[in-house]
Amino acid sequence: MTKIHGHYINGAFVQDEGRTQAVYNPALGEVSSQLALASKETVEEAIAAAKAAFPAWRNTPPLKRAQVMFRFKMLLEEHADEICALITAEHGKVLDDARGELQRGIEVVEYACGIPELLKGEHSKNAGPAIDSWSEFQPLGVVAGITPFNFPAMVPMWMYPMAIACGNTFVLKPSERCPSAPLFIAKLLEQAGLPKGVFNVVNGDKLAVDTLLTDKRVQAVSFVGSTPIAEYIYATGTANGKRVQALGGAKNHAIIMPDADIDNAVNALMGAAYGSCGERCMAISVAVCVGDEVADAVVGKLKTHLSTMRVGPGTDVSNAMGPIITAQQLEKVRGYVASGVEQGATLVVDGRDIKVPGHETGFFIGGCLFDNVTTDMTIYQEEIFGPVLCVVRVKSMQEAMNLIDEHEYGNGTCLFTRDGEAARYFTDNINVGMVGVNVPLPVPVAYHSFGGWKRSLFGDLSAYGPDSIRFYTRRKTVTQRWPSSGVREGMQFSFPS
Ligand code: NAD
Repeated sequence: MTKIHGHYINGAFVQDEGRTQAVYNPALGEVSSQLALASKETVEEAIAAAKAAFPAWRNTPPLKRAQVMFRFKMLLEEHADEICALITAEHGKVLDDARGELQRGIEVVEYACGIPELLKGEHSKNAGPAIDSWSEFQPLGVVAGITPFNFPAMVPMWMYPMAIACGNTFVLKPSERCPSAPLFIAKLLEQAGLPKGVFNVVNGDKLAVDTLLTDKRVQAVSFVGSTPIAEYIYATGTANGKRVQALGGAKNHAIIMPDADIDNAVNALMGAAYGSCGERCMAISVAVCVGDEVADAVVGKLKTHLSTMRVGPGTDVSNAMGPIITAQQLEKVRGYVASGVEQGATLVVDGRDIKVPGHETGFFIGGCLFDNVTTDMTIYQEEIFGPVLCVVRVKSMQEAMNLIDEHEYGNGTCLFTRDGEAARYFTDNINVGMVGVNVPLPVPVAYHSFGGWKRSLFGDLSAYGPDSIRFYTRRKTVTQRWPSSGVREGMQFSFPS
């Protein structure tokens, strides 16, 4: 019998009768299970459970909440193999890469373990005569998270450990393509001692999302996904009075300078462009080479590496790259490659006809490399979200920086150089949220915050780290005087000076 993934509401796994959607094993190209798509009523049930759990959880001392997070971290580590196997089976990424994703998620849990320190607030004694004033950071109530397919464990963990540690209750709507890891992890939170209703998972599609966006009981929404949906989530959520952070898509450029260590840069580009099949919001999809000599060397070396790059099922860790998530996304990527050829780019390596023995029906494509890409081409302008690297040739670093600044996205970028002055100018002036110098994937660590600029992030606050404390709490400032301390109030009609 086919497994049907349901929902996790108020500490119990529940099903709702009705619509379902297929979940695939992309390495085999076969349906592996079905997913129940939540009805409006099911989502409302999850919101109601979260709302009921809020008063007690809000009043649970931060130290006790941290203790749940400590136990949760231990359980995640204990069950890492099972979680990574679930990620690889539904997403397709290589097991080692799934481990890396889980580790980055666990680091957010570790940061959440410091919540008593992080919530200490601000205090001023004698703000006025015998007047004390302090600001405290109170949880919002029920908050929701809506997440993409490409990091089934990590991206939800950018959100709920911080939201819960701050004293909120949570409803997660994970990607409909990779439901198993979030549901498995929900059980671990329960084993860690999290009270029922504090964390809930509803599987579903637009109907579930729209219910979360419009329900008055939901105070805030964190979203990560593509830019058109991020913009919709931001517009709809804020119009319904919610606090919203919506992280969107990307087109990340790396600049390779003539003085760079070219071998090091090329190795870094291989991992950043083709790792996880290019399905990362921080993937480098454009390599901007300063000067033809650099471009010729970079393209030549990338071509050589691509000829031996192993592509196959993620369960075999000797593979560098697994399959694409779905047949539709595979067709989309192939379509982009065709458009690049049509629009005049030089296709140096064409991975479209790759065959993986024993996995002929899997959603595989090999790494693709374009040279002589120009800014008017669709492959330059749009996010491909596949293993396609575009090389653009420019004459100067400033010309390269102008390209980056003019692009609609501003998630991540990187400069390869040995010149400290150039690196300082680049990091200071580039209009991108996450910047690397000889670091191709400059993903901030858990105690900083993650977020792009321009159309890569709608909202003011980034994910996890210090920004998440601000996002998942609201400031309350109390000003207090006790008449018994000797200062009695006279009638005063103007502001004291
Ligand atoms: P997606 O936008 O298709 O889906 C994301 C979430 O939105 C899913 O939960 C999905 O069910 C929901 N959704 C989809 N269509 C919807 C609609 N019409 N109305 C309401 N909800 C809808 O994204 P994806 O394909 O799952 O993920 C890939 C995208 O995510 C890429 O664009 C990638 O760059 C982006 N991403 C961004 C970051 C970041 O930090 N900026 C991180 C990871 C992924």
